Amino acid sequence: MRGCRKMALKALDIYKLLPKKNCKECGDPTCLTFAMKLAGGKADVSLCPYLDDHAKAVLGASTRPPIRLVKIGVGERSFKIGEETVLYRHEKTFYHPPGIIFRIPDTLPEEEIAKITRRVRDETFTRVGSDLRFSGIAIENTSGSAKTFENAVAAVERQQCHLPPVLIAKDPAAFSGALVHCGSYRPLLHAATPGNYKEMCALAKQHGCPLVIRANSIDGLVQLVKDCTAEGVQDLLLDTAPTTLGDFVARSTDIRQLAITRAIPELGYPVYLDATATGSQDAALILGIVKYASVIVTDPLTPGPAKAALTLRQNIYTDPQKPIQMNPGLYRVGTPDKKAPVLMTVNFSLTFFTLQGYLESTRIPCFMLIVDTEGLSVLTAVAAGKLSEMLVRDSIKKFGVEDEVSHRKLIIPGYASPLSGRIEDATGWKVLVGPRDAAEIGDYLVEEWKKASGA
Ligand code: SF4
Repeated sequence: MRGCRKMALKALDIYKLLPKKNCKECGDPTCLTFAMKLAGGKADVSLCPYLDDHAKAVLGASTRPPIRLVKIGVGERSFKIGEETVLYRHEKTFYHPPGIIFRIPDTLPEEEIAKITRRVRDETFTRVGSDLRFSGIAIENTSGSAKTFENAVAAVERQQCHLPPVLIAKDPAAFSGALVHCGSYRPLLHAATPGNYKEMCALAKQHGCPLVIRANSIDGLVQLVKDCTAEGVQDLLLDTAPTTLGDFVARSTDIRQLAITRAIPELGYPVYLDATATGSQDAALILGIVKYASVIVTDPLTPGPAKAALTLRQNIYTDPQKPIQMNPGLYRVGTPDKKAPVLMTVNFSLTFFTLQGYLESTRIPCFMLIVDTEGLSVLTAVAAGKLSEMLVRDSIKKFGVEDEVSHRKLIIPGYASPLSGRIEDATGWKVLVGPRDAAEIGDYLVEEWKKASGA
């Protein structure tokens, strides 16, 4: 197996397949430049209109994303997985966060099924400006009865949540009745094995569903990928059938590495993890998020682990090269009047939400003037020249601060104190230097602002 690895094409190999017209129609000055971009995954082969069929086939295969993009579900709550390109987040970014799916055994009473389904539909945890939610419901045929399975799927669908479903059953015959209720929602089917892949592929093709394949070795997965794609199913997920956390991490890491280097292109599919099968669900959930799982099925989580998982997922799937940013603008805390203080700060999300939290706890209504430092913190923005007196002046004008308050006093963060004189000169506003630590803003407003404003 490993002796027949296909390596990604290098720029010179790609160049040999190009027409060498140097016509610039692809947007690059020469065919060689275009080849270098293709090799780095920074251009699309379709940009060159002169490729022959052979070149298209070879280049298309070697320059497309090494892990296939797969969509689960339909509509507003559908989600995409795959299309990852790196092993380590600091190299670039991870693109598609894993779906965290709550599993329901089909033996559960209908009211319990409805309750869990509504929880996944409604529960939202807002953090640094983003709404974090669970991704879907998995119904497992633990009863072994096709009719019970169908009834449980119907009970989920009666809630009309249109959450992406995952259907889990050992017997392919059990799926037919269940798919009557959710077949048009592009459910994920679990799982094709060497013994049943033909029936599972037939179901996946008939309903247009993505399909999990399950084997406990790399060679077994590669063979199943070949078998299922030969049957015409392209949207696959890989379940490595781990029984320990070590198994999962080792296999999942191997798969990511072999896929992104294109050493074994057949492994270029997202990974599925049953977090309950490894002995410690919470630990499996964390490792799944960090180590490359794209769909993670768990028992319904209690609030603590639920928040921890959603927070971790958000952190891992945030581009490390782009700080989380707020939209610049004028934000109200409470119901400020014309005499309310105006506090200027940067649009780095953590700065915004930290300051906002402390301001809310003071119960002093005020305005927050958020200026665009491209998501940099105050200290970094001052050092990098991204926070300037001109930016503050333009932001005051742009966001109509002068119309909102009758005074002309601006509180700036303590770390921006070197700019205080220049901001005064540029804006004509009196600048008050606030504390460096947002935790001290309450005392500052009570003592310093009241003094300065004559309140
Ligand atoms: S469009 Fe094709 S032939 Fe023309 S420069 Fe680009 S790669 Fe070369």
